[in-house]
Amino acid sequence: MTNEGTFKALVVEKGDGQLVATVKHLTVADLPREDVLIQVDYSTLNYKEGLGFANRNKIFRIFPIVPGVDLAGTVVESESPNFKPGDQVILNGWSVGERYWGGYAQMARIKSDFLIPLPKGMDTRKAMAIGTAGYTAMLLTMTLEEAGVKPDSGPIIVTGAAGGVGSNAVAILAKLGYEVTTLTKAGQEFTHDFLRQIGAKEFAGGKEWSQMPTPLETQKWAGAVDTVGSNVLARVLSEMKYAGCVAACGLAGGYDLPITVMPFILRGVSLRGVDSVSCPKQRRIAAWDRLVTDIPDAALDKINKIINLDEVPRYANEILAGNITGHIVVDVNA
Ligand code: NDP
Repeated sequence: MTNEGTFKALVVEKGDGQLVATVKHLTVADLPREDVLIQVDYSTLNYKEGLGFANRNKIFRIFPIVPGVDLAGTVVESESPNFKPGDQVILNGWSVGERYWGGYAQMARIKSDFLIPLPKGMDTRKAMAIGTAGYTAMLLTMTLEEAGVKPDSGPIIVTGAAGGVGSNAVAILAKLGYEVTTLTKAGQEFTHDFLRQIGAKEFAGGKEWSQMPTPLETQKWAGAVDTVGSNVLARVLSEMKYAGCVAACGLAGGYDLPITVMPFILRGVSLRGVDSVSCPKQRRIAAWDRLVTDIPDAALDKINKIINLDEVPRYANEILAGNITGHIVVDVNA
């Protein structure tokens, strides 16, 4: 906050069919009426905001909007009995940054129902180095565990592994003792060093990954984390070992799924969807508690790059173009 009582916010407005993003100076009175006022430390930039800034998939539902699906910061005022000034909080999802103003601002007003306390042993910077990407990666990991996939069950494949969710999933699964194989887009071999440093053991690839699989390919994977969808997810399913599980969260390669029932009815393979946006509060808190220990700080340092509010629109284009390796933290105070 400046002495004049203003703060910085990245505001997106709709012009003549085009979106215009500008860093503006707002006052608290400009914020939507919600029950908790937060001084924001950090937010994140994700594939979803890439879609939003490109005016695709109807991500931004209201205008003007302050985007940002994540934030971490400190409560300044609260009308909720669940939070008091000084409490440190995290917000992920709940359509914030889509239907409600989000984290790309130094101050935010958020519904108390959407907030969870920052877990003990984590600061706001680490929380946003993890962000929705890492929290979703933990939900994907929990989903595999619940399906009975254990570190000694056999290799796990992570697709879209160089992206935010994928790289966090690699780091978490490797820390937990799983043997992780990664898949990135063809021609992305430069990512292998990075992936090896955060825990990848093997690298899948080859032209078969851009082709349609047969209904049942050679069995390779005990578990899979998929962020890509489309023919990549179809191939993963056709390569699953007997009774293996695929946890799927993304559509970076397309939202279609050209498969047959064969992996399900002949190999007992399961496909479980993972949603971070409306995930119930208790499961969120369980995921965040595990993230205090189950993702190594050294991996987070390698995965993350920090940018400021002015840089968000440019990096949003880059993430959509597939030019970003790892995950982006937005320092709203830089
Ligand atoms: P990123 O852009 O950071 O990562 C996506 C990755 O997918 C990139 O690394 C990209 O490749 C890779 N990729 C794209 N196409 C292909 C392909 N054909 N084959 C292999 N890899 C490919 O995005 P996020 O990590 O933020 O999100 C990933 C996906 O998960 C998105 O679809 C997002 O919407 C979804 N998501 C869903 C959530 C949920 O709650 N369900 C929560 C968070 C994200 P490369 O690096 O190799 O170029």
